[in-house]
Amino acid sequence: MKYVLVSGGVISGVGKGIIASSTGLLLKTQGLTVTSIKIDPYINIDAGTMAPTEHGEVYVTDDGGEMDLDLGNYERYLLTTLTRDHNITTGKIYQHVIERERIGHYLGKTVQVVPHVTDAIQDWIERVARIPVDESKAVPDVCIIELGGTVGDIESAPFIHALSQLQRRAGKNNFAQIHVSYVPVIPPGPGGEQKTKPTQRAMSDTRSAGLNPDLIACRCELPLEASTIQKIANMCSMEPHQVLGVHNVTTTYHVPMLLEKQNLVGTISDLLNLKSTVIPPTPE
Ligand code: ADP
Repeated sequence: MKYVLVSGGVISGVGKGIIASSTGLLLKTQGLTVTSIKIDPYINIDAGTMAPTEHGEVYVTDDGGEMDLDLGNYERYLLTTLTRDHNITTGKIYQHVIERERIGHYLGKTVQVVPHVTDAIQDWIERVARIPVDESKAVPDVCIIELGGTVGDIESAPFIHALSQLQRRAGKNNFAQIHVSYVPVIPPGPGGEQKTKPTQRAMSDTRSAGLNPDLIACRCELPLEASTIQKIANMCSMEPHQVLGVHNVTTTYHVPMLLEKQNLVGTISDLLNLKSTVIPPTPE
């Protein structure tokens, strides 16, 4: 199984869900079967009890699961049918670990966040990633994992630890990470300066948390300037092709094209050693 983790920094609502869905869609155009998992580090079991005025629509999956609205984006972009288990929350993981503790599963051990909760997260991801989600009924080739919230939040710490271990469990060429950041323009509007410091801090926080992003997707009000891309690459020890610009667009269905123009498929295919199964048209 190949994994693409989409994490975020600087601010919430930066566009992780749209970038995760768009990445999945682009991989699907290569003939790959793509599934997705959304991690929400809150303690609610699911979004069913959360006010839509605060949290957005509650998306209901075919099995009756009451989910975060990102699951709706995944199903619409990727033409998949997901289950309630494709949305992992802190509440669900703790409920699962505590139920096991009550039946003696841990054989007298002290049950701890590391390794018991972090192992449960990895086992859950590995199990759910293999569930067929489209009409081909095939085990998916790639699983997009979106980690909700921002790296550095107390709530997401066990998930970050688990994902960093999953990276090792998955092995070389099986795990890639896109970190989504925000580049403010000050003063706002054309002529303003694109500020890179929040992105530099976000990358440093992510690396100290044990993750090592392969790509930084920068959400910005305006298209990223070449000098901004170069500066982020220099300051974050990356190559310019690892810095993607995702500016504000009139409809989020334009985001896949924006990423395609920046060769996201080529870069991820290299990182994960993916082969397109689409037969190119024969020249006339
Ligand atoms: P997150 O997953 O980080 O919370 P979302 O993907 O849910 O963020 O996006 C938050 C909001 O921003 C949504 O309303 C989405 O439609 C909008 N959005 C995301 N990316 C863009 C973009 N490039 N241009 C315009 N709106 C965007």
